[in-house]
Amino acid sequence: MYLWHPFTQMKEWEQEEPVIIERGKGPYLIDTEGRRYLDGTSSIWVNLHGHRHPSLDKALRQQLEKVAHSTLLGLSNPPAIKLARELVRIAPKGLTRVFYSDDGSTAVEVALKMAVQYWQQQKKRAGPKRMFVNLTLAYHGDTAGAMSVGNIELFHERFHPLLFPTLKVDAPYCYRCPLKLAHPSCRLACIEPIERVLKSRHRDLAGFIIEPLVQAAAGMLTAPPGYLARIRDLCTKYEVLLIADEVATGFGRTGKMFACQHESVTPDLMAISKGLTGGYMPLAATLVTEKIYQAFLGEYREWKTFFHGHSYTGNPLGCAVALANLEVFRQERTLKNLQPKIKALRRFLKPLAEHPHVGEIRQCGLMVGIELVKDQARREGYPLEERIGHRVALEARRRGLLLRPIGNVIILIPPLITTIPDLKLMIQILEGSIISITRTI
Ligand SMILES: *Cc1c(COP(=O)(O)O)cnc(C)c1O
Repeated sequence: MYLWHPFTQMKEWEQEEPVIIERGKGPYLIDTEGRRYLDGTSSIWVNLHGHRHPSLDKALRQQLEKVAHSTLLGLSNPPAIKLARELVRIAPKGLTRVFYSDDGSTAVEVALKMAVQYWQQQKKRAGPKRMFVNLTLAYHGDTAGAMSVGNIELFHERFHPLLFPTLKVDAPYCYRCPLKLAHPSCRLACIEPIERVLKSRHRDLAGFIIEPLVQAAAGMLTAPPGYLARIRDLCTKYEVLLIADEVATGFGRTGKMFACQHESVTPDLMAISKGLTGGYMPLAATLVTEKIYQAFLGEYREWKTFFHGHSYTGNPLGCAVALANLEVFRQERTLKNLQPKIKALRRFLKPLAEHPHVGEIRQCGLMVGIELVKDQARREGYPLEERIGHRVALEARRRGLLLRPIGNVIILIPPLITTIPDLKLMIQILEGSIISITRTI
């Protein structure tokens, strides 16, 4: 035993029988014992077109025959150039420049640093403008800057001494509305307190960071329609940069290429990663508007250079497979084919709402969160130490479905290529597992 796993209590791990994945095919993963599982997490939200997709495999092999890596510091490479062009083509209109990094966390760090430097380089500065607004229950990654704009107590509280302060506003968690209102009769009353913060503090604020439409790691909290567009309007009105963290929601997960596109929103900066390479290689990017890019241009001695980069920035293997990923979207009409799947999934999930320990089912595209409760009428959750989600996931695994819950929320994020019959099978296993575990408590 030499391996230390992420987000894992290793004492418990050492006592459980590990599943060791050896191979994959389409939506299936196969372990060293030859057991086959449906990949209900898309290998933690990254896989889109299934495992071992021939086009993605081929793109990687072909690039390998040219070069595996060369740096983007002072040099360029064809896959990085082509991918930047393709990303601008599919991104929300107005995002015109692409800065690469390695994972979701670094893409967020880049966005935060760019936002702060951007305001420093404005001729007429409206104020110090170096703080950020974030939502409660936000998750933007595990590095220090990304944790600072995060707000999940279990993950972040302990590291508080390392983090910079932010202004927090309530997440649109409608099932447990902080204002005790109900949607849609609330008419988005939660926007008002947010406007008050922006109005009084905009001189201090560099940016507002948000996971558009779905706060994924919070337990798939889905924002009510119109919420994101209202936040965009407020940011414009008070001159605060909007940073969209599309790391989880990007690349078709919500039914459109990017979540922002559901509300015709163009953020000032956008972080992408997870689905960027179809789940093949670690790669990320921060996309920005022309206005932001231009603010960094100047004579060298003006010191407007963005002094940031990583060893593997713009890695040719990652960029080559990302290009193939986007090509598969076109060739297989992935987004179009997704629409009936999203509807079918909604239909399959509906009966589950009747179950006495299901509090709320949240779905946006192929992102699903099922919040389990001890008492449905009082919306009372299970104590975290009962590990209800974990136990349901273990049961589902015995039945052939891999899940990774977040606390009391069962998360289902199947690969986009999952067929309707396989989606149905996933929900059957999920339902059976929930029933079998909650009955014993
Ligand atoms: C996963 C995730 C991140 C962090 O990405 P890593 O690749 O794990 O560093 C950031 N933001 C969101 C919304 C995520 O879901």
